[in-house]
Amino acid sequence: MKKITILGSTGSIGNSTLKVIKANPGEYRVVALAAGNNIDLLYEQIMTFQPVAAAVSRGDLADALRNRLKGHSKTEILSGSKGFSMLAAIDEADTVISAISGASGLIPTYEAIRAGKGIALANKETMVMAGQIIMDLAKQKNIPILPIDSEHSAIFQSLQGHRKEDLKRVILTASGGPFRRLSLDEMKDVTPAMALKHPNWDMGRKISIDSATLMNKGLEVIEARWLFDLRMDQIDILVHPESIIHSMVEYMDGSVIAQLGIPDMITPISYALSWPRHIKTDLPPLKLEEVGRLTFERPDMGRFRCLALALKAVEAGESMPAVMNGANETAVGLFLDNRIKFLQIPEIIERTMDAHRPFNPDGIEAIMEADAWARGVAEKEAIRLGA
Ligand code: NDP
Ligand code: MG
Repeated sequence: MKKITILGSTGSIGNSTLKVIKANPGEYRVVALAAGNNIDLLYEQIMTFQPVAAAVSRGDLADALRNRLKGHSKTEILSGSKGFSMLAAIDEADTVISAISGASGLIPTYEAIRAGKGIALANKETMVMAGQIIMDLAKQKNIPILPIDSEHSAIFQSLQGHRKEDLKRVILTASGGPFRRLSLDEMKDVTPAMALKHPNWDMGRKISIDSATLMNKGLEVIEARWLFDLRMDQIDILVHPESIIHSMVEYMDGSVIAQLGIPDMITPISYALSWPRHIKTDLPPLKLEEVGRLTFERPDMGRFRCLALALKAVEAGESMPAVMNGANETAVGLFLDNRIKFLQIPEIIERTMDAHRPFNPDGIEAIMEADAWARGVAEKEAIRLGA
């Protein structure tokens, strides 16, 4: 029986993970849950799964939750960054699902690895900010980091039974997002509501905006680089609007191995939990005869500048990806609050990156400093743009 902690249990990935666990009660047990502010949903999850411990972002929310749970549950309630770190390292768990959104996921994930937990990783920002540090630590602790992100799950699956040395390149597919066909002029006035309507996937708010700007694909390139130890020239991106092929691996002899499926995160979440097995889910089958056509096109970096900026950040290396990520998160937050326009997202990221002198971050603290610096600069740049 796998004993599981979910960081970000009240989110889109967290909820889907709980569905998989509930459908396989003999295989998995929830031992700890961490959420941000949604104590109503967390309360229900605690009542259903009776974990050993749970954590929320603030002390007052923890007090309110404890009051509600009195007499119904023995779950210990923790709070704040210390609480998250303790929960991530809790003795009872052997596996941690990293599904907090954004940079807030980094430190709890790091603490989970330090405590020797196996990781199922959804929080790509962890890899973008601190890929080298995370992979070095995971190697030292001899623990696996299994991907939940659908593209990385597809690559991981396409690598099974093949020799890594025979790999030529990976091809990350991208849906292209809701604005794939819009001109720059048409993108000027798109609203958060329009950007949140993804054609194929139902996801949290931050990643939905990243999918609309194609920053999500930039973050995924960096995630793939670290997870699979690839050179940047071994990673290609192909827009595939149907989101049926989740990614591919090309080998030296010309073979291309792909993983296909309907676009639902239940599949990659299940695989990250059950690897090397494939367990049963109640998803409808993929009917290619109904899909009809699978189409592909090159990504347009001119219209989707966020993608170009992410690649530029990798090239600069050192602290630059963490700065790019922090600036993006700030800009996305401002866009969701209607304080900046959609096309100002890349503008703010670019200005923040231009102001940064990359340094070699020697640990997680240095990464968090670069992140905080980037957020400060991005805020200022946004105000200069009229936010
Ligand atoms: P959601 O916004 O749906 O959920 C985010 C979760 O993180 C919630 O449980 C939220 O808590 C919690 N959270 C947010 N901020 C904090 C914080 N500061 N401290 C503690 N907890 C916090 O996001 P998703 O589930 O969509 O995404 C989660 C991660 O998975 C992201 O990194 C995303 O890129 C990645 N991912 C998601 C995919 C998807 O299909 N959704 C696909 C591939 C990757 P609360 O709501 O209680 O405040
Ligand atoms: Mg993805």
